[in-house]
Amino acid sequence: MKWPNAGIRLGAAVLAVALGPAVGAQQSFRVGTAEAAPGQKATGYLEVPAGVDAGTNIPVVVVNGARPGPVLALVSGAHGTEYSSILALERVIADLDPAQLSGTVLVLPLLNIVSFEQKVPHVNPVDGKSMNRFYPGKADGTQTDRALYLVTKELVDRCNYLIDYHGGDLDESLRPYAYWAPTGRAEQDRISKEMVLAFGLDHIIIWPDRPTDLAATRYLDNTASVRGKPSIVVEAGHAGTTETDDIELLVRGTWSTMRKLKMLAGEPLLIENPVWLEKSVEVTSEQAGIFYPLVKRSAYVEAGTKLGYVTDFFGKTIYVARAPVGGIILHICAVPSMKKGDNIANIGVVAAKAP
Ligand SMILES: [Zn+2]
Repeated sequence: MKWPNAGIRLGAAVLAVALGPAVGAQQSFRVGTAEAAPGQKATGYLEVPAGVDAGTNIPVVVVNGARPGPVLALVSGAHGTEYSSILALERVIADLDPAQLSGTVLVLPLLNIVSFEQKVPHVNPVDGKSMNRFYPGKADGTQTDRALYLVTKELVDRCNYLIDYHGGDLDESLRPYAYWAPTGRAEQDRISKEMVLAFGLDHIIIWPDRPTDLAATRYLDNTASVRGKPSIVVEAGHAGTTETDDIELLVRGTWSTMRKLKMLAGEPLLIENPVWLEKSVEVTSEQAGIFYPLVKRSAYVEAGTKLGYVTDFFGKTIYVARAPVGGIILHICAVPSMKKGDNIANIGVVAAKAP
């Protein structure tokens, strides 16, 4: 997957055949109701029609560069209370200057508006579905399905690269990390690895063996990956906070990745020695009650370390959560509310060697 910068010298007819719809600048670019001429920034909405439930309008921004280049899609707020990632893309929208840009950037800063408005973590309150589990979406499903169908059609199908932004949700104390998901296609994997190293988060989870069925890709980044587009997932922020450090990590990572993709001038800042994690192991509660954590995000634990405990409402300990493996606490439950089967922590297991 390579953006042929020189290709723009070809005739327009040849270009259209060679590059399909993913041509960056030099012509206006429309997504939903947002249409930007070269050198312009435009705002609008992906209009999700009403169906078995209510319709919705998802804000979209098209930043069409003054010079030709690839199309990069940036999406946050699938989980509408992962606030740092949403505020990071608000910064990118404000600061990205189309006059300095080669190519086009498509930004969805807040996919799950009702989650944000109602402060409901993890799901779209309209239909109870996670907005990062039902790709590629369906034109005739519930609101989440219909929204994701439009995201696939309007963003994924039209971009060359994609970054999906997340973070710790309201109930998750999370340390920053990224996901890199190799596909087995060498050139695509080389580029996505360059993207994740350029983004600069210092812990990277290797995520192989993902769904390859085009009709059931589940996750946004995977939807782009199986369609041949290098993509990564980045996570920073935690438990409803909007700390400058977390937002800065995501904003600077975005600029650095765009430099690596030659969409902005300047050198990317590559992370040279990230901690590669071979998997993320989930620990869940076997009891409902009040959760008390005993470790913090980013702590290193060994197999058997007590992560926290759950009491009943009379103060009696009814469950002790221990680490099933050694590794780093990627996130730990940030609130006392605990149901049976809820997430207590995710532990990143350090890879024996870098990929
Ligand atoms: Zn998320």
